[in-house]
Amino acid sequence: MTQTAPPRRDFIREMVAEDVATNRFGRLVATRFPPEPNGFLHIGHAKSLALNFGIAREFGGRCNLRFDDTNPFTEDVKYVEAIERDVRWLGFEWDAELFASDYFEQLYEFAELLVRNGKAYVDSQTEDEIREGRGTVTTPGVESPYRTRSVDENLDLLRRMKAGEFTDGTHVLRAKIDMAHPNMIMRDPLLLRIRNAPHYRRGGAWCVYPLYDFAHPLSDAIEGITHSLCTLEFKDNRDIYDWLVRETGFERPPEQTEFARLELDYTVLSKRKLLRLVNDGHVTGWDDPRMPTISGLRRRGVTPEAIRAFAETVGVARKDARTELALLEHAVRDDLNMRVPRVLCVLRPLKVVLTNYPEGQADELDAPYYPHDVPKTGSRPLPFSRELWIDREDFMEHPPKKFFRLAPGREVRLRYGYLITCTDVVKDASGEIVELRCTYDPATLGGDAPDGRRVQGTIHWVSARHALDCTVRLYDRLFSVPDPDAMPDGQDFLAALNPQSLVIVDGAKIEPSVARDPLETRYQFERTGYFISDPVESADGRLVFNRTVTLRDSWARVRDR
Ligand code: ATP
Ligand code: MG
Repeated sequence: MTQTAPPRRDFIREMVAEDVATNRFGRLVATRFPPEPNGFLHIGHAKSLALNFGIAREFGGRCNLRFDDTNPFTEDVKYVEAIERDVRWLGFEWDAELFASDYFEQLYEFAELLVRNGKAYVDSQTEDEIREGRGTVTTPGVESPYRTRSVDENLDLLRRMKAGEFTDGTHVLRAKIDMAHPNMIMRDPLLLRIRNAPHYRRGGAWCVYPLYDFAHPLSDAIEGITHSLCTLEFKDNRDIYDWLVRETGFERPPEQTEFARLELDYTVLSKRKLLRLVNDGHVTGWDDPRMPTISGLRRRGVTPEAIRAFAETVGVARKDARTELALLEHAVRDDLNMRVPRVLCVLRPLKVVLTNYPEGQADELDAPYYPHDVPKTGSRPLPFSRELWIDREDFMEHPPKKFFRLAPGREVRLRYGYLITCTDVVKDASGEIVELRCTYDPATLGGDAPDGRRVQGTIHWVSARHALDCTVRLYDRLFSVPDPDAMPDGQDFLAALNPQSLVIVDGAKIEPSVARDPLETRYQFERTGYFISDPVESADGRLVFNRTVTLRDSWARVRDR
């Protein structure tokens, strides 16, 4: 199975193997997963988690969970808790849990060191002036008039910044590098800025907040990270990364390597956009089963094993590429197929009365939970009686040739039960079919006729008297175009939301055995799909199931038509 397959050798693992062989860092391999606690983790993060934790494990090293929490405006402890829960649920165990906000003092000391070494200065231009002074890709920037401040003046201002003497935006600390550098990021990047705002962990204790480019490399270096793995959009940040760890005197500092981020079709993987979906009410929350978040996938019924197998399959590449949703769905089906029991549930019930089956009688059929090719055992009693529910889609009054289900005069097999033949169609005043009258052949229990007659179709059913009512939530892809980030004519990604991403089916009928299963039990509803009982919606004995994935890719068929 996928989870025991050896990890694929990719360019990052090749590199780490060589660094280990040459003892390049003089210490154990150390990686980290560095989320900013400003949203929930999504499936893209799972790829990064699998890489960072996988490498630490494979090379006998360690991996930290470090929160890059340097922005007081967007971060929250509720996101920290959600991230911890999701990382654990995915099956990754961190060696240390750390917070960049615990390094504020140390980072400040590094800032003073840079100032003393003439490598940083306090700039008192406005934000706009700083932006304009940076130049463009084709024109060099201009030096700030404050760039030549003396070390003493810089130190004095920096200390007063920290002491809280100034309002937001009056001063910033900048690295003194090169205003004509071909890499725009190296044109005296900002290191610290004043934010008189409380931080979710530091309260009002701090007001000079480090920028990502300052905090991230130095946090890595403080922790003794060897391989700082990040996604390709940070490629240009590598220069400042290297500059900072060098100028602050770290020996054998960590090195940054970039890999392609996961981009998955029919969804968005930007926390900013996911937050908008939540805040604007397009979904019910971060854990809405349509969300590509780890908590959404969990509520949808996806297992951690399937997500990890998916991450392995996607692998690690140097170039960005989109991943088809079919790949994720395949990993999900592959995993669920081998582990979940099969049960019978009728989504759109149509009554069947077996006219030759005695009223008041009931059989108990023994139905196996798993098919022959799944190495698991177990069965449950399945009640059978005179009145059954079958799915409306399994009957046609005027069927085309290849319709192998039930039709007037036709015979069909009931899963685990008998062969039945439709004799009458009962309609109401408006002409709608409300009931089928059928006969059953008592000699065909198990589905074979002693006289050898062949019956092609097998349909699922439940006993009307014994069935439980339930609600089934049919989830589908959240967007109706493969790449909602690339809408034509500057349209917003929300314009691509799939209006059918959730179809709620009330009044479905399910076999009674599920009543004794705990919430969050996963099933295959035979012929219908994979489902999980929803822990949020199922309350007070109400049975609500979420569709995890269909059995086959129905979208591909629609598309190909
Ligand atoms: P967003 O850009 O959506 O705000 P982010 O990348 O800023 O997300 P972080 O919390 O900063 O989110 O990410 C933590 C780690 O996860 C980073 O190392 C980042 O590179 C990685 N990561 C984020 N998105 C993806 C993705 N789609 N595929 C692979 N890795 C990702
Ligand atoms: Mg980010």
